Amino acid sequence: MDDVWDLVVVGGGPAGAAAALRARQLRPEARVLLLDRADFPRDKACGDGIAAHGRDELALLGVPDLIADYRPTRRLAVVSPGGARVSATSARSNHVVPRKVFDARLVDAARARGVEVRRHQVRALADLGDHVVLDGTVTARAVVAADGANSAVRRLIGVPPSPEKHTAIAVRGYADVPADDDVQSIFMQQDGWPAYAWSFPIGDGTANVGYGMLLPRLHATGLPGKEVLHGRLAELLPHVNARDLRAHHLPLSPGRPGPGSGRVLLAGDAAGLINPLTGEGIFYALLSGRLAGEAAVQAADDPLPAYRRGLRKALGRHLRTTDVLALASQSPGFIDAAIDTAARRKEVFDLLVDVGLGAGTVPLPLALAVIRRWLLNAARRR
Ligand SMILES: Cc1cc2nc3c(=O)[nH]c(=O)nc-3n(C[C@H](O)[C@H](O)[C@H](O)COP(=O)(O)OP(=O)(O)OC[C@H]3O[C@@H](n4cnc5c(N)ncnc54)[C@H](O)[C@@H]3O)c2cc1C
Repeated sequence: MDDVWDLVVVGGGPAGAAAALRARQLRPEARVLLLDRADFPRDKACGDGIAAHGRDELALLGVPDLIADYRPTRRLAVVSPGGARVSATSARSNHVVPRKVFDARLVDAARARGVEVRRHQVRALADLGDHVVLDGTVTARAVVAADGANSAVRRLIGVPPSPEKHTAIAVRGYADVPADDDVQSIFMQQDGWPAYAWSFPIGDGTANVGYGMLLPRLHATGLPGKEVLHGRLAELLPHVNARDLRAHHLPLSPGRPGPGSGRVLLAGDAAGLINPLTGEGIFYALLSGRLAGEAAVQAADDPLPAYRRGLRKALGRHLRTTDVLALASQSPGFIDAAIDTAARRKEVFDLLVDVGLGAGTVPLPLALAVIRRWLLNAARRR
């Protein structure tokens, strides 16, 4: 049997790496073990889009230059389900970094900070009050479960998975594009709404391309998932020839469970923290992982209440905002109005970026501007 670890992190994606990095940053003598069932570098189905908000988290974790060698871009273009268009420059730059690279760099950074990294798939957990035992051999004062959308640890502590109505599924691939293409494009689709395709150029003559939709909408087609996802990607991006297609679930934040149980803290996708409007999850994974790592070493006697407080302070208002917007955006007309308004008013565009990719909230006057446009559009159609 191992000695007792101060923190064992399950999963070496952005949430897990952030938890491990933060724990050692705050308490350099803390014994931190990071377990992942895969060896790094490993691929992960993702759009690879890392917003400026995610880079802020990297800076807080002490790795500000982790992706500095990738091309920054501020150009964004969105076509709404009804055909409204906005093409603008965002206030801060975003990056596209293949997860195979990004996650391996984060794990390397954690290793360099003194975190022990082991290949190990967690299958069993016993919470014994003042410590937790994983697979009968690894003993921890606290566990951060950062093992992704289908978290085994979440299941082992009795927390239910995300309800299907709040779960999306998306496929991503890579395609050749002109090397100077630096526009991150999103093409929304009325059929099966909410659903959209994206093209996120990396800067090396390739782009991450993909298509995502809500799981119940996919099931409603009655067709095999692969046929629907691959078919709609080809339909919305007819000019690209995508290779290396790979799909995965996205647990959206309106279906988020509680943040854990006992000495086990859920972070990232395991905590259901994906933005329901955009499918962005890397920022939330880094943020929640950082807060979980903080709670594990700074409130070691009882980390869960500290973690819950940290999450509420950082994301409480934002999550309530996106819960409401996710409901409103069930109507494609609402999104048409939002994009239409963003095309006319730069501050609305910037706000949508903050709400969709960061921890932004919507001030009442701007919400009213979108609702006014929604009603005007509806009246015009009648
Ligand atoms: C197609 C698609 C496109 C997306 N596009 C974007 C995007 O462009 N931008 C964005 O911000 N977000 C995007 N997301 C969401 C984003 O991928 C996730 O939110 C993010 O990966 C969450 O990070 P995580 O660390 O919580 O989990 P993951 O990145 O899933 O990492 C979980 C880790 O846990 C390990 N693991 C799993 N089970 C066990 C176990 N039992 N024992 C040990 N280890 C285990 C896995 O090997 C993995 O390394 C997209 C998602 C999908 C599916």
